Amino acid sequence: MDGITIVRHPLVQHKLTLLRDRRSSIQLFRSVVRETATLLCYEVTRDLATELVPIETPVAATDAPVIAGKKLVFAPILRAGLAMAEGMLDLVPSARVAHIGLYREPLTLEAVEYYFKTPDDVADRLVIVVDPMLATGHTAIAAIDRLKEAGAAEIRFVCLLCSRTGAEALREAHSDVPIWAAAMDEVLNDHGYIVPGLGDAGDRTYGTR
Ligand code: URA
Repeated sequence: MDGITIVRHPLVQHKLTLLRDRRSSIQLFRSVVRETATLLCYEVTRDLATELVPIETPVAATDAPVIAGKKLVFAPILRAGLAMAEGMLDLVPSARVAHIGLYREPLTLEAVEYYFKTPDDVADRLVIVVDPMLATGHTAIAAIDRLKEAGAAEIRFVCLLCSRTGAEALREAHSDVPIWAAAMDEVLNDHGYIVPGLGDAGDRTYGTR
């Protein structure tokens, strides 16, 4: 599918299997979500611009690359996106964080907003929206609608798992927003859960039901 990158790195795939396994403890699940998000962050930032700056090593003067261009905002969708955002901040500690509070209305599966806060300069930054599960796509689409209303101009979306339906819906609504995921599952059940999926990412991270 155009605009979607499935990260097939063996470490990412191994960690995803740990996340899918229902026997994984909450502690393991939470730490592996964070580690996997760090690896996905590495991929989603692969094409960031760099520029050469003059430095001196202990041996000689040289020009060496540093990150240039737009600064980053990580935008986790609450609450399941939070553990992923922590893993991404491990890699880019200077990034700003926007919080997007949305929940899925259980009957319609539509996204309902309850909190939204972004840095003032969001228009000048590359915004990476973070949500472990891209299921129906409703929540991701609503989050990106709001970010665009707030001025965000360059947006990427990263998740652990997407459904084909959700990825197609997001690409249709926001064709300028590329997607990164560790895997795409074909089935979305009547409750909007990805099958085989990994269950409810928020509940498995925080030990709720
Ligand atoms: N949200 C989840 O946490 N899991 C799914 O399978 C779908 C949406």
